[in-house]
Amino acid sequence: MVRCLRIPFFIFLILFYFLPLQQDSIGQVNPKTKVAFTIDDLPFSSYRTLNTTEKNFIYDKIISTFAKYKIKAVCFVIGSNYKPVDQPFLKKIADAGHILANHTFSHYDYNTVSFEQYSKDILKLDELLKKFNVPKKYFRFPYLSEGNTKEKLESIYSFLKQNAITPVPVSIFCTDVNFSQAFEKAYTKNDKKEIDRIASEYLADFKNNTKRGLEFARNHTRKNPGHIMLFHMSLLSAYTIDGLLEICREYNLEFVTVDEILKEEWYQKPPKYFGGAGYTHFERY
Ligand SMILES: [Zn+2]
Repeated sequence: MVRCLRIPFFIFLILFYFLPLQQDSIGQVNPKTKVAFTIDDLPFSSYRTLNTTEKNFIYDKIISTFAKYKIKAVCFVIGSNYKPVDQPFLKKIADAGHILANHTFSHYDYNTVSFEQYSKDILKLDELLKKFNVPKKYFRFPYLSEGNTKEKLESIYSFLKQNAITPVPVSIFCTDVNFSQAFEKAYTKNDKKEIDRIASEYLADFKNNTKRGLEFARNHTRKNPGHIMLFHMSLLSAYTIDGLLEICREYNLEFVTVDEILKEEWYQKPPKYFGGAGYTHFERY
């Protein structure tokens, strides 16, 4: 009897250990990888004016899901997107332990404006953010555009340093912007079939893109560096946040803070890339 049980148990052990590795594995195994979350374009990233129900849905869904997964994010505000009526939403996310941060007042592409204009614009938003509890100052370059000349790149980094503002790069871009407009249209029409079709198409794309981002960084560094992910404060993000974090779990991603990632050696080097916008951290590295 004991002998009979042993073989199936042995087979069970083999299946238990090896089956999960075959599912969407990176190489052979998904090693535990640290990831921090950032959200761009607060208060809202939208193609139309959102109503209060939609605004509440976005903030309540993202805040409650992050709480469930014990995630603390850095959330980048655009000054020109901000209206006093949206103050309670920013307050709500800051009160939940997420950090509001600077994404310039006017969402300028740094490659198209001067250092003087750009740095003034950062300070203008810095003033506005004083309304909120901001424990530490972070900055995200709109369009991931850090300057088209060496001088502009160096000037802005030394300006940020002088003002005790920490720039936060992106290593995995969630590609939500490619789906957001179509999603919002379907959402406006309350077309449930289309809403779910676009949401699942986005999540499939997120899954592939995350896999590529993880592999690229591992091949590039020959190690397993941590990542900083970016998505936008939109209806699509709120609608898909559960699915997105499930995919992160499948890839064995461990949720940490931005500061923990920035301590890693890959995020310590002085920036040297200037030129075209939109490149992720390891593409510039
Ligand atoms: Zn932005």
